[in-house]
Amino acid sequence: HPGVAEVRILATAERRDRRILAVASGKGGVGKSTLSANLAVALARAGTRVGVVDADIYGPSQPRLMQAEGVRPHAHDKRLVPIPTPHGVPLLSMGQLVEPDRAIAWRGPMAAGALGQLVDAAWGPIDTLVVDMPPGTGDVQLTMVQKHRPAGALIVSTPQDLALIDARRAMDLFEKAGVPIIGLVENMAGYLCPHCGRESDPFGHGGVEAAAAAAGLPFLGRLPLDRRVLDAAEAGRPVAAGDGPEAAPYHRLAAAVSQ
Ligand code: ADP
Repeated sequence: HPGVAEVRILATAERRDRRILAVASGKGGVGKSTLSANLAVALARAGTRVGVVDADIYGPSQPRLMQAEGVRPHAHDKRLVPIPTPHGVPLLSMGQLVEPDRAIAWRGPMAAGALGQLVDAAWGPIDTLVVDMPPGTGDVQLTMVQKHRPAGALIVSTPQDLALIDARRAMDLFEKAGVPIIGLVENMAGYLCPHCGRESDPFGHGGVEAAAAAAGLPFLGRLPLDRRVLDAAEAGRPVAAGDGPEAAPYHRLAAAVSQ
């Protein structure tokens, strides 16, 4: 058994080795959580040791997306132990620390404290910690960038103007804190009608790519609005766990993020 000093050194080494990837959006409902789950599963399938922190206090959805609903994490040596999921991606969620209908009443400092417990949990040797951030620019986001220092941030937006304006605010927060923005992803871009086979753009087209170009940031791809993505998410089996054509954009995104 390692002594106390050794355990501390191990814990520090763990923290230094892993890279935190913050997945952020300006607005809720743009598909940030679905993307985080799929990205984590795709990274794991590519051989990365990855964990997921669900910091989205206003709508913690990772337990459902990753089939860990209703499971409470236990603590070991005062650190939370992440919950294993069927996708090989351990998970900790704000939703597992608090009754779902109470989460919304949390004060900023409480949420920031809970974030620390999730990020500094007993993750063991992992390469990447994907953090599903709450939408917007509040206390949790500030604590994340100032205290936990992500290696990079991924910004998710839909092509609509409103979502984009909010995304720019989120980008600003990371830039001011000196956290590199790895790139922008356009979600719900293009819809392939299962009935007529024609593609349409319910939320517009190309807005996120243009925003990335204007900001001089990489554009990491378009994720189509796809009923299979929604159904798979609801069933707790992100499409990235499979090999269908609907999984391909997520595997490409994982490859782009790993570079
Ligand atoms: P956020 O985390 O930004 O609030 P969610 O990931 O919860 O958003 O997604 C909102 C809803 O949109 C969910 O029902 C989800 O299944 C659905 N969704 C997200 N991305 C897609 C997509 N590319 N195609 C179809 N449905 C999607």
